[in-house]
Amino acid sequence: MKALVSEYNDKLSSKSAFEILEFSIRNFRDKIVFATSLGAEDQVLTEMIVQIDPSVKIFTLDTGRLFQETYDLLDITEKKYRIKIEICFPDAARVEKMVREKGINLFYENVENRKLCCHVRKSEPLMKALRGMDAWITGLRREKSVTRQNSETMEWDEIHDLIKINPLISWTHQQVWDYIKERKIPYNVLHDKGFPSIGCLPCTRAVLPGEDIRAGRWWWELPENKECGLHQD
Ligand code: SF4
Repeated sequence: MKALVSEYNDKLSSKSAFEILEFSIRNFRDKIVFATSLGAEDQVLTEMIVQIDPSVKIFTLDTGRLFQETYDLLDITEKKYRIKIEICFPDAARVEKMVREKGINLFYENVENRKLCCHVRKSEPLMKALRGMDAWITGLRREKSVTRQNSETMEWDEIHDLIKINPLISWTHQQVWDYIKERKIPYNVLHDKGFPSIGCLPCTRAVLPGEDIRAGRWWWELPENKECGLHQD
């Protein structure tokens, strides 16, 4: 499987995001899954996937610390597209142990604690959800983070041992929003309140005009630390 990545990238280099998805869904059939965070990019992908094949498995990670607006969007998206988005939760015993030992707001203390929280609440459930799959679809965009500059359309995901497909990797912020507006795709209302990137409530703030779009995520950390472990170069 790993050996096929560069062949696929060559084949798909001039294809649109929709065509990349079509090829991937046809190629990986019931061994492909889409992990949505309900962010703007992921809403674009949901709309495309539903057009191609509404039976593709879509899941999201509920860390237990999300915004109410995100839960509302989950509900709206399921109803609009008549789909079921599977919700994956962290292991309750692991969360209890972490909180008992490190505190409820451990992530503000230091990078290690923040990474531990992301690991327990996101990475472990993701690992479980991807088990047995050959490929997963993500909404990564190169432009969005300094840690994603080397990402390609298809990549071998060493951590999860499967192919990662990033159909929007070369899309710009403008392209995403033009597509959303044109197709009347539902999106998180927080985007209209200065939140370009939305994660957990305690770790996300609105950004000021002119600030980098990732400035509102883990704003107390250096840019090179700003990954949650789900996507690593
Ligand atoms: Fe925990 Fe914050 Fe990571 Fe969410 S984003 S899992 S609250 S550290």
